Amino acid sequence: MDSRHPARAKSGATLHLVPSVEPPANPGDQAPGPRPFRRFALWRVLSLDGLAVLHYTAGCLAILAAYRGHPVLAWPLGLTYLVFATVQLFVLMPLVVCPGCVYRTIRDGRCPSGLNLISARLCPPSPNALEFRERSHGALCQSKLTWWSWIAPLPLALPGLALSFSWTAAAPTALVVALIAIRRLASRRAVCPHCLAHRWCPASRAGAGA
Ligand code: SF4
Repeated sequence: MDSRHPARAKSGATLHLVPSVEPPANPGDQAPGPRPFRRFALWRVLSLDGLAVLHYTAGCLAILAAYRGHPVLAWPLGLTYLVFATVQLFVLMPLVVCPGCVYRTIRDGRCPSGLNLISARLCPPSPNALEFRERSHGALCQSKLTWWSWIAPLPLALPGLALSFSWTAAAPTALVVALIAIRRLASRRAVCPHCLAHRWCPASRAGAGA
């Protein structure tokens, strides 16, 4: 398997972004630990993306319900959050981060969230793969945006809940808390250990799966 990123391969340099996934000649030589996936199963991709969509929808509903008596506040806050969370994951990530990811270099590869496929339709691969690991630095880096997309519904909805408690608002807020825990657990246990990019992934460095 060629572990060189095309941009670096031109210069002959080797970026060890891709651990070997070829089966060893002797099965007894198989390295311990989870098996890396070049192509994640569709059910894993749909589950991960489904959790993200459910998370963002619950966050929007929590904000709308928390300020149900103040629609002038509720709708701009709720819809802004929903648009921000959706765009940062399904548009910004494929445009800004994914072009430098190893999954963009693997024929028929499919990353845990399938965003490498969206990225391939939107833009060419990054000419500098080293940029990939820099995506977790800076106040507005993708890791921070991802982190805010996870937790923003809580600071936005809780003041409204404190002023006027209702179970209609408390239920989606509690669902957001549960989904934060579920997504973290799923990422750490079932996604990141099998991902070829996890050692360099900005989302992983932020403590959140993509
Ligand atoms: S693993 Fe992460 S960075 Fe790589 S293509 Fe998928 S979403 Fe993008």
